Amino acid sequence: MATGFRFDLKATDGKARTGVIETPRGEIRTPAFMPVGTAATVKAMLPESVRATGADILLGNTYHLMLRPTAERIDRLGGLHKFMNWDRPILTDSGGFQVMSLAGLRKLTEKGVTFKSHVDGSKHEITPERSMEIQRLLGSDIVMCFDECTPFPATEAQALESMRLSMRWAQRSRDAFGDRPGHALFGIQQGSVFRDQREESAEALQKIGFDGYAVGGLAVGEGQDMMFDVLEYAPDMLPVDKPRYLMGVGKPDDIVGAVKRGIDMMDCVLPSRSGRTGQVFTRRGVLNIKNARHQDDPRPLDEECGCPACRNYSRAYFHHTFRAKEIIQSMLLTWHNLHYYQDLMQGMRDAISAGTFAAWEADFHAKRAEGDIEPL
Ligand SMILES: [Zn+2]
Repeated sequence: MATGFRFDLKATDGKARTGVIETPRGEIRTPAFMPVGTAATVKAMLPESVRATGADILLGNTYHLMLRPTAERIDRLGGLHKFMNWDRPILTDSGGFQVMSLAGLRKLTEKGVTFKSHVDGSKHEITPERSMEIQRLLGSDIVMCFDECTPFPATEAQALESMRLSMRWAQRSRDAFGDRPGHALFGIQQGSVFRDQREESAEALQKIGFDGYAVGGLAVGEGQDMMFDVLEYAPDMLPVDKPRYLMGVGKPDDIVGAVKRGIDMMDCVLPSRSGRTGQVFTRRGVLNIKNARHQDDPRPLDEECGCPACRNYSRAYFHHTFRAKEIIQSMLLTWHNLHYYQDLMQGMRDAISAGTFAAWEADFHAKRAEGDIEPL
């Protein structure tokens, strides 16, 4: 493992795990949820507010930052931590996933991928070597291998070809990353929904050797049942003593199900994006603040939540500010949603430590099944 970067597994309960990743920029308590700071900001939030929700680490997007304002500019300005005023750990993705989902005119070869920027149509190339360079310029603490996120659905032959390309790119990523004390490089398992391919991928990655391992190629449209099917076996193929990261997941029940199956880290835009569209996550499920039932309701979004939105404001206020398109509703609903997600992670960490994860999970599902509080 990279110097200054260590994973201590503290307790397990069934397959669920809790521990701490130590980095030179601070500890990451696992299971960890990473808010997404796409363009060097978690939208509508100050960094100190993100930290106040309980986040130990943020995710930054290589694809977005390389296009605007560019990795070279961020490097000249002192790196991403200084640029966005977040001094704790940052994980950056490799850029591959967003090239596939956002960029135009993509061309994939053994060397890498060329594409047109969705911002201004300019031409770019990402290779494993370039991805490592960009993530180094950004100053990322946890760097992800450049891979091809296998589309879903894929035939067995397509998935195999894609996975083997990603494994060759994983070796090139490892070689290009070099030895960078205090910075970690994670490999990404591919293989779609095919167990033997997941096995081959896990073996290939471990032969190369990484500081952590991601389960890639999920949350791409396969649905929760199929994702959980893969998570029944895929994390078990990865080393016990290294963090396991499920990329781009997800809804609260996806997260709980992933942790139950041995995942340590997750990220998703859902809590922040939903905050801007009036979707609110609570212990009793999801509510839509646009709904007229909230317009005279003086109660908080979630009576058990300690966030500023719930302590100081009513559902009626959020209904009004949403209708009036006031910026404060994006700020406060994002804060609440991120706070809810971090409470969820803390609840799981505590339950795993206490050996009561099954009871905690039953309670989590039971509260959601009750649905939102009765209208007044
Ligand atoms: Zn709240």
